[in-house]
Amino acid sequence: MTSPFIVDAHLDLSMNAMEWNRDLTQSVDSIRERESGMNDKPDRGNGTVAFPDMRRGKVGLCVATQIARYVDRNHFLPGWHSQEQAWAQTQGQLAWYKAMEARGEMRSIKNKSELEAHLSLWGVSVDPAAATGSTAGAKPGSTAGANPVATGEDRLPIGYVLSLEGADSIYDLSCLETAFAYGLRALGPAHYGPGVYAFGTDSIGPMGQKGRALLNEMERLGIILDATHLCDESFWEALEHFHGPVWASHHNVRALVPHNRQLSHEMIRALIHRGAVIGTAFDAWMLIPGWQRGISTPQSTGVSMHQHIADHIDAICQLAGNSLHSGIGSDLDGAFGTEQSPGDLDTIVDLQKLPDILSGRGYNQGDIDNILYKNWIRFLQKNLPE
Ligand SMILES: [Zn+2]
Repeated sequence: MTSPFIVDAHLDLSMNAMEWNRDLTQSVDSIRERESGMNDKPDRGNGTVAFPDMRRGKVGLCVATQIARYVDRNHFLPGWHSQEQAWAQTQGQLAWYKAMEARGEMRSIKNKSELEAHLSLWGVSVDPAAATGSTAGAKPGSTAGANPVATGEDRLPIGYVLSLEGADSIYDLSCLETAFAYGLRALGPAHYGPGVYAFGTDSIGPMGQKGRALLNEMERLGIILDATHLCDESFWEALEHFHGPVWASHHNVRALVPHNRQLSHEMIRALIHRGAVIGTAFDAWMLIPGWQRGISTPQSTGVSMHQHIADHIDAICQLAGNSLHSGIGSDLDGAFGTEQSPGDLDTIVDLQKLPDILSGRGYNQGDIDNILYKNWIRFLQKNLPE
């Protein structure tokens, strides 16, 4: 089986650069070595993502985040004490992305023509109209759509669509227009806990007045709504009040692992109805029930891509009745490393094990291509500005 191009719809690259102090131009091995002996964070020395490894794994396009939380005195999580400080943090993250562009390591994808130019650089072509997906689990065998990547990908820039995870840093709605101008194309209104504009994971509440005003402005500008991390109440309110494109960048299935961070079948159906793609996330606690942070290990639990990533992908495809709504949103190095990832993943290069894994589940080449890159690309071809 040829190695396909891969789109990963959720990587906190600048957070790793600016808060974990990781130089992502170096290899994963070299970053791990540099962190040996450090113990300020549980995932030190266990990172899985860096540019050379992304290139080796043909992860040539990603959705890359800015992230900064605002917390009032009662918030149960760490964060900035004012929204303006959170904004400044995201601007530092942006400065790093721009420096990576200047070095030729990354390339910002802000519109349809930049997307097509980037895909042709990697030797990838996706027909925006040809959205066909056999019923998931159909017999393997078809090789339609095989898309070998151009040679020399070890030097190609990695494309990124800029997304904001949690909107707290938008201290005034006019910031959103500023952000759109520098390339922001997707936004998740909340992260963990109550946010300024919406209630996120492990909290309960509506979008409310401020949240709806944010959604209106996103719709006016053409920013994609990322439904990931919205609590149920905010999720349903957001879907009702927002009429633009919606995706769930890194989000797993509640029926397999019960938790408010996960999508119920009703939510998955609503997202499919809106034409969303749902990215399967690789954080172990979202893959198997009963994960205990800092106690469970990939070895003690047997959490794997082979079994559990495939289960979450398959659940989405079975609900959709096709392979057109499932993608990868790994969240690798999203404050966890190999200590809390599938045991059969050492670095992001191992995403290339997915074609064989899915083939083993009865997915044909067309389905596999949809899941690994075509669904995200078609979504962007349709919804990025001209
Ligand atoms: Zn997240």
